[in-house]
Amino acid sequence: MAKLIIANWKLNPATEKEAELLASGSDIEGLVLCPPFVFLEKASAELKKAQLGAQDLFWEGVGPYTGEISGGQLKEFGVKYVIIGHSERRQNLGETDEMVAKKIKAAVEKGLIPILCVGETKEEHDAGRAQEVVERELTIGLSQLTKSSIDQLTIVCAYEPIWAIGTGNPDTPENAVAMAKFIKKTLVTSGHSLSPTVIYGGSVTSKNANDFFKHSEIEGALVGGASLKANEIKVIVDISRRY
Ligand code: PEP
Repeated sequence: MAKLIIANWKLNPATEKEAELLASGSDIEGLVLCPPFVFLEKASAELKKAQLGAQDLFWEGVGPYTGEISGGQLKEFGVKYVIIGHSERRQNLGETDEMVAKKIKAAVEKGLIPILCVGETKEEHDAGRAQEVVERELTIGLSQLTKSSIDQLTIVCAYEPIWAIGTGNPDTPENAVAMAKFIKKTLVTSGHSLSPTVIYGGSVTSKNANDFFKHSEIEGALVGGASLKANEIKVIVDISRRY
């Protein structure tokens, strides 16, 4: 199966014009572009081959929730995927596992494919607690779904060790493979017949992408910084197509 490459633009670029240029340069089959909400419409207009994703959603559909965006609103722009529980939201905005669970439920109910981000801090990593953290994030993250909706679920799990994000210091491919296996095993042993697409995120570039993609357990990548250059993300997608 082709690898899934997701471009997380975060709070970039600064202007609509730049967003338009980046979207048209990144219109590549097999890529999911996740621009800031305000650029979804412009990006969508540029895309013929790539798919559209969002960086977050709120769990309610409408109502007095200032600043929030619902799954239904995202669908109006042609959004297919939504990143949920990114560590930057967990760390900077206090997003909890319970909030993540409500967002996953809302995304599934609206027919959006959730990209559930999980991963440990440096301290947790050094203390040998990575699997414990990932298991908790997965278990609580899916806890609002009914058994029948879980069994039919299409979901992407992004293993993103927090210490590897935006640092230029990626995890080792061997560790990422071990965690990908652990994620699949955890979801099966928790009683769910669920087969997530497991991808890796954390300082992926065209220089190291092959080291990850050559392992069948790594089914794609969530790419932040390197997705802000159309040429660079294009090379990453090209490398993924070797497998
Ligand atoms: C991310 O935003 O999830 C990410 C992995 O960023 P970067 O590729 O810059 O480490």
